Amino acid sequence: MKLYSTKNKKAFTNLKYAVLKGLPDDNGLFMPQEIPRLSSAFLENLSEFSFQEIAFSICQALFKGAIPDADLQAIIENAVNFPAPVVQLDEEKYILELFHGPSLAFKDFGARFMAQLMSYFNQGESRELVILVATSGDTGGAVAAGFLQTPGAQVVILYPSGKVSMLQEKQLTTLGHNIVALEVDGTFDDCQAMVKRAFLDKDLTGKIRLTSANSINISRLIPQTFYYFEACKQLPQDGRDLVFCVPSGNFGNLTAGLMAHRMGLPVHHFIAATNANDVVPAYLDSGLFSPRPSVRTLSNAMDVGDPSNFARMLDLYEGEEGGSTWNNMRELVSGYAFDDEQTRKAVAEVYRKYNYIIDPHGAVGFLALEQYQKEHSNTKGIILETAHPSKFLDEVERILNKKVEVPERLAILAKREKRAVSMPTEFGRFKQWLLDNIA
Ligand SMILES: *Cc1c(COP(=O)(O)O)cnc(C)c1O
Repeated sequence: MKLYSTKNKKAFTNLKYAVLKGLPDDNGLFMPQEIPRLSSAFLENLSEFSFQEIAFSICQALFKGAIPDADLQAIIENAVNFPAPVVQLDEEKYILELFHGPSLAFKDFGARFMAQLMSYFNQGESRELVILVATSGDTGGAVAAGFLQTPGAQVVILYPSGKVSMLQEKQLTTLGHNIVALEVDGTFDDCQAMVKRAFLDKDLTGKIRLTSANSINISRLIPQTFYYFEACKQLPQDGRDLVFCVPSGNFGNLTAGLMAHRMGLPVHHFIAATNANDVVPAYLDSGLFSPRPSVRTLSNAMDVGDPSNFARMLDLYEGEEGGSTWNNMRELVSGYAFDDEQTRKAVAEVYRKYNYIIDPHGAVGFLALEQYQKEHSNTKGIILETAHPSKFLDEVERILNKKVEVPERLAILAKREKRAVSMPTEFGRFKQWLLDNIA
């Protein structure tokens, strides 16, 4: 498998390099040179394959032998080990539940697969891989759970003291084993600055094999293509056009859907659903992309003002024959944005109408699908439910005026004891701690 940087499509690297490096030196994003169409034997018989078999077929086609079949099988067995069920709301609306992993969000798919690939590619290296992550809450939890007890990997998480929720903090600080949490006496930006500086510190990188678990690592995108096929397989084939509606922030999830479409996913259209951070819907309307600082909303995992995967979306549709990138993208993707007031109403409406508790991110998706289907009748739509409602417990309970059950795997953490190392924001102290405890 060959990959290029979105900033230089003439130089290629291999999968191992792209996974361990994360970002190309030119600050572009890695993309597969070829996104092959899957065989018709596969595409026409999806329902005969298990979720893991679907994942295997996709990786085999994409990786082109970069990982031998037996190794790939083991990686997928470890990474894709929880389901992605489709739930029906009504005749034309379905929900794809992506929250059955350890941290209750779809990011578990990406994090687990990335952990498996990094560990695989680090085999035979004498030094263990040290993954540094700065988190404002959610990403750290998924990465920690994804790497837990992964051979050859040590995770160091930096989080801002007092600025993450109690359950988020427990997800970072109670796992033990190869996961260490540093409770930084500062903000998320301070944490991020410390991590960035560590990567630039030659003394540190000479002594420790540092890598980042950045959300734009290509190995987080690939497993997100699996569940689009897994969702298709669960729907009745009735001749109606299928649309996927994706609540979006950094647009990794949607980009994975567009890659799945290249591979032959039988989908008619995609919907990009956002909160007030609407730069992509605005681009789809006007052709102008104007990134700006993010604003805070209820669906806070989508509060992104300059979505990093937009470069990949452009890359997928530029240079296609006929028409501009903008036109090419608009043929396949529509965008809608909604505010917090509408989102709250949608959480309440979905519960009243369908007796289904949707989280605020999924609710933005529900609104967008409803809007699209007003304009396009006789379609069936799947909303990606990106997190379990109990991750946003206070807000959802306030809207519905009822208790929301916290799944056992999360509730159990609340009872465990927090273990974190207190850390000031001075880089020197952080560096010394790494040298004393990790090197
Ligand atoms: C990260 C996240 C999103 C946004 O996904 P992108 O791939 O960044 O667009 C949406 N919902 C939840 C719950 C998330 O955690």
